[in-house]
Amino acid sequence: MNKLQIAIVGGGPAGLAAALYLKRANHHVTVFERFASPSAVGSGLILQPTGLTILDDLGLFQNIQLLGNRIDRLYGADAHSGRTVLDVRYSALKGGRYGIAVHRAALFDVLYNAVRKENIDIETNVDILSMEVGAGSNSLIADNGRRIGAFDLVVDASGSKSKIRSFANKSCEPKPLVYGAYWATLNWHSEGFHQHSLLQRYRKAGVMIGVLPIGKAGADGPNSAAFFWSTKPGEESSLRNAGIEQWKDHVLSLWPECSAYVDQIDDFGDMTLARYGHHTLPMPIGRNLAVIGDAAHSTSPQLGQGANMALLDAKALAHALVTTTDVTSALSRYAQSRRLHIRGFQTLSRAFTPFYQSDSRVLPFIRDRVVPVVSRIPPAPHLLASMVSGTLVDPFEPIGLKEKIWI
Ligand SMILES: Cc1cc2nc3c(=O)[nH]c(=O)nc-3n(C[C@H](O)[C@H](O)[C@H](O)COP(=O)(O)OP(=O)(O)OC[C@H]3O[C@@H](n4cnc5c(N)ncnc54)[C@H](O)[C@@H]3O)c2cc1C
Repeated sequence: MNKLQIAIVGGGPAGLAAALYLKRANHHVTVFERFASPSAVGSGLILQPTGLTILDDLGLFQNIQLLGNRIDRLYGADAHSGRTVLDVRYSALKGGRYGIAVHRAALFDVLYNAVRKENIDIETNVDILSMEVGAGSNSLIADNGRRIGAFDLVVDASGSKSKIRSFANKSCEPKPLVYGAYWATLNWHSEGFHQHSLLQRYRKAGVMIGVLPIGKAGADGPNSAAFFWSTKPGEESSLRNAGIEQWKDHVLSLWPECSAYVDQIDDFGDMTLARYGHHTLPMPIGRNLAVIGDAAHSTSPQLGQGANMALLDAKALAHALVTTTDVTSALSRYAQSRRLHIRGFQTLSRAFTPFYQSDSRVLPFIRDRVVPVVSRIPPAPHLLASMVSGTLVDPFEPIGLKEKIWI
């Protein structure tokens, strides 16, 4: 493939990873980001063996390992009875896999510093509103009316609220989910918690509290934890009107050990309300357009795959471009190589989310009685660990990658 002029819209995990791969494949890459100075929004997330394999492929594994915190187990219990509801261990899989929980800022900084080091052009403060599709190239339309380009390829990595995915051959918009969550990044306290586990407490499917130790945002920072409380964005004002103390009392009545965390929260303003949506583009490509990451597929973070899938998409696009001779063929290959994995995990996420976040009484009843028993019977531990790892459907072979060697 000749050297292409490539525009990447969005400097999140998908856009920055794509920028690195495509620059290294000798294309001319410009990233357009709407924020004045690129920064990461939100709290923490788990990088799964899939996402870690991509960071390893990019030569960034050690950088993220230094900041993040190793996760070996995902454990959840009913808040009243203490009965185990979820217990997934990466060690159920051979090969020594694990996850690394990271502060979003840490993931962002690792990717962003690599992009800067490789002198990739980044234009900030540019809100891309639309696109003009030409015969062999596309132009971007920014919020001040500026027409930018022509580009041989536009990569839409602008997240779940993308304004240009409508140019894909088949597009759709995220459907809002009833439940979202309050998230906060707090100082890590180990008492009653475990440094290498994500711990959760549930009450039916209406209450979910989680504590995820995420390591440091920066080399000199304190060890942090992501704290989350499942809630309906539609009920935000009634929660706020009842006052922060009532909310804290509720949390502590369900999980007293959380006092070290809720003591760090003075006001609802200390938390971020995350709203979730779900969509999967039937065809994440258009004329000289590839849609990657959350712009192509968004979901609730229940399975913790979003950022990992975004990183896989970036590699898939780069692989498609080196294994074909023209952009149109590369785009088809990109879409094809990710189809099964994305469809599989989006379906699983849609199916599992209501067991943990919904008003259903039946689903959590089944969850609390069936899952603890069935999940201990082989091959369930293995299947659950593969699901959490993101490898239940092989994502690597179709994109020309071998999984990282863990030990
Ligand atoms: C609360 C929460 C918890 C999560 N937990 C996990 C987890 O544990 N594991 C996991 O893998 N995933 C998790 N996710 C999902 C994960 O955060 C996303 O899947 C991931 O960030 C997607 O990356 P992205 O680069 O596609 O999009 P984003 O991270 O949304 O980045 C998009 C970028 O594009 C920029 N942009 C947007 N519009 C424009 C525009 N018009 N012009 C220019 N720039 C624009 C934005 O400013 C942003 O920088 C979680 C998500 C949430 C909300």
